[in-house]
Amino acid sequence: MLTQMAVDLRAARALCREAGRLKEAGDPATIIETCAAKYLASTAAVRAALDTVQIYGATGCSTEQPVNRYLRDAKIMEIIEGSSQIQEVLIAQHALASVGAPAASRVKGEA
Ligand SMILES: Cc1cc2nc3c(=O)[nH]c(=O)nc-3n(C[C@H](O)[C@H](O)[C@H](O)COP(=O)(O)OP(=O)(O)OC[C@H]3O[C@@H](n4cnc5c(N)ncnc54)[C@H](O)[C@@H]3O)c2cc1C
Repeated sequence: MLTQMAVDLRAARALCREAGRLKEAGDPATIIETCAAKYLASTAAVRAALDTVQIYGATGCSTEQPVNRYLRDAKIMEIIEGSSQIQEVLIAQHALASVGAPAASRVKGEA
């Protein structure tokens, strides 16, 4: 579990840095790379918080430990600013478009 957390952290940082680099360069790929960074970082945060609950054993859900707060905070990151399901739709649509597949139906709210 700790290995997964450590590797997820590296991956999330790398994707966030890449999205930031593209943003600074004014590259239109910023949007899809930001989606990918948000998706990976938020799902990894939930996975890490869930595993931490387990690592803490019987006290994992205790209000005397900060772990339950980390889990709630992480879950919110999966929902706000485009839920994980919406990120999945957008990233899959982009992947299909990048290989010339016909356009899929648009997601609610997509410009
Ligand atoms: C705890 C919490 C904190 C929040 N904080 C903020 C905040 O600070 N700022 C802010 O702007 N908003 C915030 N929100 C709102 C959040 O961004 C929306 O709740 C979220 O985007 C879902 O939109 P919706 O409520 O309109 O529901 P809907 O759009 O109806 O979606 C409901 C559920 O269906 C899923 N869904 C929708 N369309 C699809 C699809 N095509 N395929 C698969 N699944 C789909 C969504 O992932 C979601 O799980 C918060 C929400 C929660 C729960």
